[in-house]
Amino acid sequence: MKYISTRGQVQDIGFIDAVLMGLADDGGLLIPSHIPQVSEEQFQQWATLSYQELAYEIFSYYTNDEIPQDDLKALIAESYGTFRHPEVTPVRKVNDDMYVLELFHGPTFAFKDVALQFLGNLYSYISKKQDKIIHIIGATSGDTGASAIEGVRSKEGIRICILHPHQKVSKVQELQMTTVHDENVLNLSVEGTFDDCQRIIKELFADVDFKNQYHLRAINSINFARILAQTVYYFYAYFQVTKQTDAKLVNFSVPTGNFGDIFAGYLAKRMGLPVGKLIVATNENNILERFVKDGIYQPGQFHSTFSPSMDIQVASNFERYLYYLLNEDANQVAALMDQFKANGKIVIDEAKLRIVHDDFDAHGVMGEECLTMISKYYKEYDYLLDPHTACGVAAYEQVTDSNEVCVTLSTAHPAKFNESIERCNIEQTYPEQISQLFDKPQYQEIVKADNAEIARRLEQFFSK
Ligand SMILES: *Cc1c(COP(=O)(O)O)cnc(C)c1O
Repeated sequence: MKYISTRGQVQDIGFIDAVLMGLADDGGLLIPSHIPQVSEEQFQQWATLSYQELAYEIFSYYTNDEIPQDDLKALIAESYGTFRHPEVTPVRKVNDDMYVLELFHGPTFAFKDVALQFLGNLYSYISKKQDKIIHIIGATSGDTGASAIEGVRSKEGIRICILHPHQKVSKVQELQMTTVHDENVLNLSVEGTFDDCQRIIKELFADVDFKNQYHLRAINSINFARILAQTVYYFYAYFQVTKQTDAKLVNFSVPTGNFGDIFAGYLAKRMGLPVGKLIVATNENNILERFVKDGIYQPGQFHSTFSPSMDIQVASNFERYLYYLLNEDANQVAALMDQFKANGKIVIDEAKLRIVHDDFDAHGVMGEECLTMISKYYKEYDYLLDPHTACGVAAYEQVTDSNEVCVTLSTAHPAKFNESIERCNIEQTYPEQISQLFDKPQYQEIVKADNAEIARRLEQFFSK
């Protein structure tokens, strides 16, 4: 397997180089040069595998021989050994046609751990094997930061700096990031939105000299390794659900911000997983809902919502999908992305929109709908949804037909977002790991959303 850029100027690099490059040097995103097809026979065999075994099978398609079998197995064992549930990502039946895929049993109680425990260990492995300096920078709407820091804290040869939007993340998210007091961790609290943080990171990465000089590596979902890790649970959930129903096709409702998680579902489908609809669930920041419905990709007004990890206007992974929608024509992707930069808008034609509708449907949750869902499922099923998962459940309710089976991805534990849960007049008890955070001192620096200022701070941190 080789990796190429969606914009065509990076060709045929290996898996480890793709992980290290993060954002492609031509400003595009790295993708595998072809999508592996899972044979019927293989698919049958996979149905009975454990999560770790399945991860090994899927990763092997993408890592080539760059990571020897035993090393890859050890990386997987270490990454998922930190999860509190033996199945890693268990599926819970809520009613006859809806299952929740619980992705929050990792160290920071959000689905980001599934990918970032692996990526953290992978970076550490690469650092040791190839004697590479790994300096990670990333932007977070709250969960990625905590998860990435947890993935690499105190690891030798690695430093990490995370930008989060000042006071626009939940209290627990902030505490998870800023109570870590390891030498190799720096938290910058940026006076701006997540989109500001993400833009700054993207621009710093686009400065290839700066990136190479400071050995900058990405942990955002622009990194293909994250997408790869997330394809596993689509397969795993499919196998668990089809053991319990007669369904042959399964829909997935995915709370979406950066289009990363749902792109992993698209990739799983393209590998041969029998997925019905991929349901894009957003909040009021609904650029992706509008794209799926109208074929227009255009950022709107920023809203702070009950589901802050999805308060995103520019979905960085969208370009990966665009590449496939445009029949893998990198020149056309590059032209459209240039146009997007100039006019702030991409419009696709009717024929293309029909293709979008073959794979996707969408629903954007507005106002109190999120809280209504939390209350409803708590009352009817005694199941407490976090506000992001609630968006996923709302979207499932909107667009799933009778006789279809849907898996809603539960992207976080409700304890991370008590601000929203409290508004439903529900009192929850925090898991021990979360309640103890409130007594710890915090370490963070508040900075302006200014590229030059942040670049200077990074230079200091990475030169020490
Ligand atoms: C990051 C995140 C999302 C959105 O995932 P994307 O891959 O950016 O689409 C949804 N829910 C939670 C809780 C998250 O942390």
